[in-house]
Amino acid sequence: MDGQLSPQVEVAIRLGCFLAVLVAMAAWEVFAPKRELIAGKPWRWTSNLTLVFLNAALARLVIPVTAVAAALFANSQGWGLLQLVKWPWWLEIAIAVLVFDLAIYLQHVMFHAVPLLWRLHLVHHADLDFDVTTGLRFHTLEILLSALIKLAVVLVLGPPAVAVVVFEVLLNATSMFNHSNVGMPPWLDRLLRLIVVTPDMHRVHHSVIHRETNSNFGFNLPWWDYLLGTYRAQPKYGHEQMTIGLTSYRNEHQVDRLPGMLLLPFSKAEAPGLLYRGNDRGGKDTSRSQNKAEHNSGGQRTVS
Ligand SMILES: [Zn+2]
Ligand SMILES: [Zn+2]
Repeated sequence: MDGQLSPQVEVAIRLGCFLAVLVAMAAWEVFAPKRELIAGKPWRWTSNLTLVFLNAALARLVIPVTAVAAALFANSQGWGLLQLVKWPWWLEIAIAVLVFDLAIYLQHVMFHAVPLLWRLHLVHHADLDFDVTTGLRFHTLEILLSALIKLAVVLVLGPPAVAVVVFEVLLNATSMFNHSNVGMPPWLDRLLRLIVVTPDMHRVHHSVIHRETNSNFGFNLPWWDYLLGTYRAQPKYGHEQMTIGLTSYRNEHQVDRLPGMLLLPFSKAEAPGLLYRGNDRGGKDTSRSQNKAEHNSGGQRTVS
């Protein structure tokens, strides 16, 4: 069934799912928002969405081989761990999706741990608000690096091409879902957290408090955080009162406008390498005073 997915059908599936989830989550955000946004939505949305299309176009241009093409090639050559045993096709897809998800989790931890990579990944974290478009904003270089890592995983694993499409569509959809600024009953959040990363779970990862930023790395399945000790159930100051973003980047014109976003990795404000620099080792928790100051001033946008 691998070779039968035409490029046109693949693009239609990807684009259709992307638009359907984007519109659904955007509507949910309007009717049942979780938090009040502090940055100007028209500019943020324009910047975040433009970056998505820029990244998609550049990735196609710079990396001529897609993950699907690599999977088809690996299959034709008999390459990859999954080729060693003849599994039923559905089991191959399930294993491949699990392995891809673990790879994405580990890659995310690595982007927090390695200072140079953190410089790229902080563009995702610098967003002053947390909504469906945050789930799509990643620096172009991070997207290109991720694509190369994915190609390596495909060549080592040798998954069916359809598994690559399933995972990429799933990741795109869950990333928009779990970044959404949506409210849901606590019982539903608890139930969903058994199988998928929820907005409340991932919002903790966007806190300005370092030990919260360095938790809940999962994008899709929540199990890796549970198993590997990086799970944090709730933010210290609650979802409505917590501060989103990075303490050193509070200027909306820098962090939520496209040119500023692309230049963020090369700016000096944030010391690189957040991981294990958490303030839970006796360091002073500066986020609280900032948290209070911001909320007292109705959401401070510019600090310089
Ligand atoms: Zn992160
Ligand atoms: Zn995120």
